[in-house]
Amino acid sequence: MWEEALDRARRFAGDWLASLPERPVGRPVDGALALDGQLPERGTPAPQVLDDLAAALDPGLVATPGPRYFGFVTGGSLPVALGADWMVSAADQNVAARVMSPAMAAVEEVTGRWVVDLLGLPAGSALGFVTGAQMANVVCLAAARHALLAAADWDVGTDGLAGAPVPTVVVGEQAHSTILQALRLLGFGSGRAVRVPADEQGRMRPDVLADLLASIDGPVLVCAQAGQVDTGASDPLDAIAEVVAARDQRWLHVDGAFGLWAAAAPQRRHLVAGAERADSWTVDGHKWLNVPYDCGMAIVRDPAALTAAMSLSAAYLPMEVADPSSRVPESSRRARALPVHAALRHLGRDGVADLVERCCTLARQAADDLGTHPGIEILNDVVLNQVLFRPRDGDARELAAAVARDGTCWVGTTVWQGRPAVRLSVSNWSTTPDDIRRSTAAITRLL
Ligand SMILES: *Cc1c(COP(=O)(O)O)cnc(C)c1O
Repeated sequence: MWEEALDRARRFAGDWLASLPERPVGRPVDGALALDGQLPERGTPAPQVLDDLAAALDPGLVATPGPRYFGFVTGGSLPVALGADWMVSAADQNVAARVMSPAMAAVEEVTGRWVVDLLGLPAGSALGFVTGAQMANVVCLAAARHALLAAADWDVGTDGLAGAPVPTVVVGEQAHSTILQALRLLGFGSGRAVRVPADEQGRMRPDVLADLLASIDGPVLVCAQAGQVDTGASDPLDAIAEVVAARDQRWLHVDGAFGLWAAAAPQRRHLVAGAERADSWTVDGHKWLNVPYDCGMAIVRDPAALTAAMSLSAAYLPMEVADPSSRVPESSRRARALPVHAALRHLGRDGVADLVERCCTLARQAADDLGTHPGIEILNDVVLNQVLFRPRDGDARELAAAVARDGTCWVGTTVWQGRPAVRLSVSNWSTTPDDIRRSTAAITRLL
C-alpha cells in the first residue's frame, strides 16, 4: 500500500538530489508551469500522481539546496537531516502535547538543551521549535511583552494592549524586516519603534543607544541583531547588553537567525560576545544548521515568561507547562526538532563549528576572488558568511540577473547605503572551494 508511493517519492528525491551539483541553479522559468489545470472530478492512482508532479514541478524548481546557490541566506539539507525529516513525516506525530508523542516531546526537550548549550546561552533557557526566524521573533517578543507588562501589574494576555503601559520598543536601523513584522503582529506597531542608527557595517551604535535610553522613562524592549543579512556583521552585543542592564524594566532580544551560529565556532565566537546576556534569542535551523524547512527556534531565558505568553488551555486538552505547545503559538504541529536532533548528533559540537567555519572561509575566498578583479568593489568586512559587492561600472541588479540566466550560480541583490548591491551568502555544507572558483569566474565573466 505504501511502497509504491514511497518508491516514487524516493525516485524523485534521488533524481533531484543527483541533479543539484550540475543543473542550472535558478534560471528564470519560461512560460507557465503545467500545474494550473482544473480540480479533477475523478481520482488518479497515487504513483501516477507523484510521477506527474515530479515532471510538472521540475522546470520551476530552484537548486536552492545545491552548492552554488548563494541567494538570501539559504542552507541545503544535510543528508542526515533530510532522512530524519522523512522519518518525521512517516511517523506523523503531533507534538502538541507530550501524551500524543512522548518520543517526539523528549526529542524537543533534549534538542532544546543541546542548542542552548551549543550557542553558549544560559542553561535552563526554554526553547520552542517554530517555523522559522520570523515566528521565533514573534514568540520572543511576545514573551517580552508579557513579562514587561506583568511587571507593571498588567496582564496583556487577558486585557490586551489598549490602555496598557506599553514599553518603548527600540530597534537597530538595520533590524531585519521580520522584527518589524513581529512588532506589527504583536500590536506594538512597527512605526512606533525607535530606530538606532547603525555604523558602516550595519551594526547598531551603542553610544547612540545609551543616549537614547537616558532620554526614555519606563520599560524598554531593545531588539539587537547577530548577523545583518547583507554584511553578516553583528551588533556589539556586549556593549548593548551593558547599556540595557543599567535599566530597571528592560528586555533585550537578539535576532540571531543565522549570525548566532557564530557562537558555535570557536574562531568566530568573539563576533557575538555578550549574546548570552540577553533575555531572548532567535536562531534558525533551516538556514545555517542545514536542516529542511520549516525550522526556527525561539529561546527565552525565563521559561515562565515564555509559557505565560504561549500556553493555551481547554478542558479537553491535558496541557501542562512542560508540553511542547506551551512554548509556541501552534497547537498541532510536526516534530520539526527531529532533523535538528539528527543533525547535531551527526555533526557533534566539532562538526557544527566546522560547518560554520568552512562557510566563512569560502565566503572569504569568494571575496578575495571577486575583490582582485578591477571591476568589482567589495563593500563589507567579510567577517562571517556574507559577501556584499557591486560592479564599479554597471548595474548590480543587471549583473545578478545575468548571473541567474547563466545558471552557474545564483546571487541576490539589496540596496546598501542607498545604492543597489549584490549579496552572496555561503550557507551550505556541500559548497566546495571549486564551487566558489566556478561561481566567481562566472560572475566576473558576466561583468
Ligand atoms: C532570515 C532572517 C530572518 C527570518 O528568517 P525566516 O527563517 O525566513 O523566518 C530573521 N532575522 C534575520 C536576521 C534573518 O537573517
